[in-house]
Amino acid sequence: MKNENRWGFVQVHWALRVPIFLVALLATLLVFASSTQSMSASTFAAQTADDETVTLEVVGTTMGVVRYRVLVVSNEPTDAEKSKLKSTVSTTLSRVNDLMSTYQDDSDVSRFNRTESTDWFDVDSETATVVNRAQEISQLSDGAFDITVGPAVQAWNFGAGKGEFEIPTEKTIEELKQNTGFGLIEVRLSPPALKKSNPKAGIDLSAIAKGYAVDAVAAALENLGYKRLMVEVGGEVFAAGERASGGAWRIAVESPNAMGKPFGSSLAKYVEVLDTGIATSGNYRNFEMHQGVRYSHTIDPRTCRPVTHNLATASVVAKNCMTADALATAVMVMGEAGGHELCESLNCELFTMVRNGEELSQQSSENFPVFELPVEDDPEAKIVAASSTKTGPSIWPTFLAALVVFGLMILAMSVGAIFNNRPVQGSCGGLANMTNEDGDEVCGVCSKPTTDCVESTTT
Ligand code: ADP
Ligand code: MG
Repeated sequence: MKNENRWGFVQVHWALRVPIFLVALLATLLVFASSTQSMSASTFAAQTADDETVTLEVVGTTMGVVRYRVLVVSNEPTDAEKSKLKSTVSTTLSRVNDLMSTYQDDSDVSRFNRTESTDWFDVDSETATVVNRAQEISQLSDGAFDITVGPAVQAWNFGAGKGEFEIPTEKTIEELKQNTGFGLIEVRLSPPALKKSNPKAGIDLSAIAKGYAVDAVAAALENLGYKRLMVEVGGEVFAAGERASGGAWRIAVESPNAMGKPFGSSLAKYVEVLDTGIATSGNYRNFEMHQGVRYSHTIDPRTCRPVTHNLATASVVAKNCMTADALATAVMVMGEAGGHELCESLNCELFTMVRNGEELSQQSSENFPVFELPVEDDPEAKIVAASSTKTGPSIWPTFLAALVVFGLMILAMSVGAIFNNRPVQGSCGGLANMTNEDGDEVCGVCSKPTTDCVESTTT
């Protein structure tokens, strides 16, 4: 039969084009996915290569999908020391996550959000400490920072279980406003407890918990005796003492023009950090484009709507990272002028970048320790911490599982075609229309080729 005769070398070659095409398609998707994950602004720790001999490093993931990086300068780094370091970091981060996660049903935050009781509700002292600082920052920022903003974040689809973007109705916004406002929450440090005056009010510590986690890890490392350390969780950083090769730790700030590019590929500036926290907040990675309008993930709690000004990123240097983290979000709500005024009144340093079309204008407070990249005295300075802040579960497990299944299917098809001359089962759609180098159809690749194909190849 003519159809069978066509299964020579050339036809196997043609059969291979399908898997090659699919693999190329998957590779393209992989690159695309890696550059478009839902992430916020970020800072990166820069470290010179010679530090590595005495710097111990621990990296991992916490709070679901948030990456962390810890560096300590050690006199004689050993495996035993590193393992102690690793367990201290992961125990501390798990503790904070178990208390403050909105994803975990049994966290203090989730339990408090579920209760409709307006009585005092017992929580851990760490949760009360964070809520207390959040409330102070709410007052200082005139409500721009507000941990009761959670339902509004969900309504605009920027929260857990992110779904299809949709603009909430006016009625929904009015209802949200009724249940939003830091005045609805009270906090007591001893015995530690929270209270809501509106049964529907709840709290979301996402804009302050990462900063607190950084401070908690730094405190645990100081307890272990480390004095020279850098802790980074999802782009929020605290650094103490000098880095191994001397001088302040160098933290890079990502450019808002990095949108759509892989993390860390576009750095704007670097900052020298010594015994302070630095946090960056921005709207250039986590936003929605809807009918030509850009919606930021930073929600103004007073209007329950995304902010609309052009402030692209705000980096705050403060005594601790918890304060820097919350202030960075407050500034993103307040805008450039209000943000600089607030930080000045609190003796914190602020660096902002405002977008005017393609142009970026920068403004930094007098003592913000910002420098141009590349590092002047060390142009080869290595960027070691690439961090990301994400608001939803990772797509990677599903994506990789799909990749493996696809890969195995493609392999099976190719092996069958090459070694057994077996056609692909079914009519295989567009495959049946493939032609070889002579322009003839190679419908033999399918067990049920189209009638036209069989006719053209059997006549
Ligand atoms: P960024 O890196 O931009 O600071 P974060 O993840 O640290 O991003 O903070 C963003 C999260 O903070 C949002 O997902 C939301 O849960 C919460 N949030 C948004 N707006 C406010 C606000 N005005 N006050 C407090 N929390 C907010
Ligand atoms: Mg933040």
